[in-house]
Amino acid sequence: MKKPRIDTGQIFSDSVTKVMKDYKEGKPIDKDKVREELINSGMARLMLMQMNRKQEEFVRIKNRFKRTPKRRFLTAGNKLGKTRIGIAEDIAYAMGYRPWLNKDDPDYKISVKVPNQGLIGCETMLESVPGKIEPELRLLIPSYCTLPEDWKNGSQGVLKSVTLRYNFLGEPCGSVINIRSYNQEARTFEGIDYDWEHWDEPPGEDILQAAERGKITTNAPSWFTMTPISGAYIRNRFVTRAFNNGGMDEEIADIRGSAWDNCQDWCRSCNVFIPENDPERIEPGKMRPVNNCPQCGKIMGFVSKGGLEEYFKTIPPEMRESREEGKWLFLSGLVYEIAAETHMYDDFEIPKKWMKVEAVDPHDARPTRWIFGAVSPEDIIINGKPANRIYWFDYLLAEGNVEEIVRQVKVKRATHNYSEPSCVILDAKFGAKTIKTRLDETSWEEELENAGIKNIRLSHSNPGDVALGHKIVKEYLKPHYSVLQGKNFPGMLFARQACRGERGPWEDMTSYQWKQGTEKPEEAFKDFPDTIRYTALEQLTYQEPPKEIDPRVVEFLMEEKKHELQSSGYSPLSWGLRVSA
Ligand SMILES: [Zn+2]
Repeated sequence: MKKPRIDTGQIFSDSVTKVMKDYKEGKPIDKDKVREELINSGMARLMLMQMNRKQEEFVRIKNRFKRTPKRRFLTAGNKLGKTRIGIAEDIAYAMGYRPWLNKDDPDYKISVKVPNQGLIGCETMLESVPGKIEPELRLLIPSYCTLPEDWKNGSQGVLKSVTLRYNFLGEPCGSVINIRSYNQEARTFEGIDYDWEHWDEPPGEDILQAAERGKITTNAPSWFTMTPISGAYIRNRFVTRAFNNGGMDEEIADIRGSAWDNCQDWCRSCNVFIPENDPERIEPGKMRPVNNCPQCGKIMGFVSKGGLEEYFKTIPPEMRESREEGKWLFLSGLVYEIAAETHMYDDFEIPKKWMKVEAVDPHDARPTRWIFGAVSPEDIIINGKPANRIYWFDYLLAEGNVEEIVRQVKVKRATHNYSEPSCVILDAKFGAKTIKTRLDETSWEEELENAGIKNIRLSHSNPGDVALGHKIVKEYLKPHYSVLQGKNFPGMLFARQACRGERGPWEDMTSYQWKQGTEKPEEAFKDFPDTIRYTALEQLTYQEPPKEIDPRVVEFLMEEKKHELQSSGYSPLSWGLRVSA
């Protein structure tokens, strides 16, 4: 059968035909010269699309295997262009490459079979599809890639699928982009094995589960473009596990963006204005002239500062954090504000001279939490009093009897090159409570001491200490100036590798929430925050630890001394009474 082929010469104007020819041959294209005509003809917006810094991160992010993670979450405020880049990815996956990148760009080609079946999930068929999905598809899909009959409507008279008859180069394609909405029943999402899935705003958990069933065989990639307003389960099940967000899952990436990441004439991170990019000074239809921030070099966006400010005036105050900054709405209930980019440090070997501290939240029925920290010599002020910056460098979820727990603790200490911390802070309530052991009744404190744990301190437990503890932890988490490093950073930091993991300190600290409408935190995720609160209340100040002396060295020195004294007429009766000259 003869392959259908479009005669590009009939469809395109002369100059566009030349550009297409050059493009096919991989020749450099003077994008500026043809930009206007192409945009006006609606043929190649996809090719000329430029990304802002967050869209770029979303498209290019790689895990440690140098692969695009299977699930990417772009959680951002309004006006970042998240639906736009999501739809651009949809079309790119349908074609097998990203026409807006150069051919020699490592992210130009996409590893996906073509033709394929893709899914766009959106909130409602009657509003989201005609309101945003279809206009974006029509804007970005070049006009020559489809015929009118390739755009199919469903029973509600709304677009339900579009078939790309041709790809960007005018060659046969055949991929189908299917559109479904979250007001359809979950079971209807089963059945088709999609090759990729794009969720514009989070679906209900039942819908995602149904759609995932098909993915088991294809292991299809998916991306989520969403305002972090609904879908708490998305955050708890996926986003907190993202490898770039303190999690362990290399197949999940979390890209979070503020509307200000799409600003064209002001770089918020540098507080640098770019007057040349002020829309008042740009001719209509022309691109902003400065592409990168002159200070940090990051790509600038496409909306003016004035425009963004006006837009955010229309957003109710309680929604601003989500719609402007891309923060999860329900996280206003979080006990601590803590973020991977500010509160995690790249693991390093803790210097021997730093003061070691450990805190314990003992449990009988579930693993005992044991956290390992170092009080550094870096001075900070907490609650108006001197303190020192604390680095949490490891933890244990220890199971078994007390001896077994202590053995695991000692192994952990040895791997970090020390044997005794300056103190071990133990939950006072639980620590002093009697527990049943095989032999008799005792307490955690006694049991731990018997098993060889020294320097135990019971946590503060006076009335009001819990509230005070939260206040002090919050102070530790705030930035404090470091003279040594010449910058501001938190007074408490967590090791990026060693503190992550399921129910580890990082997950607990970032998920710890207030019970709605109360002044008490939820029980879930409270374990490690408790240990950190006990430690914060101690407000430890740095002291150089006593030298740990190797017993073999002591023995050697004793021998030497004995030898020396013997040869100098030492007498045990008079020694030490002599006045040296
Ligand atoms: Zn900058």
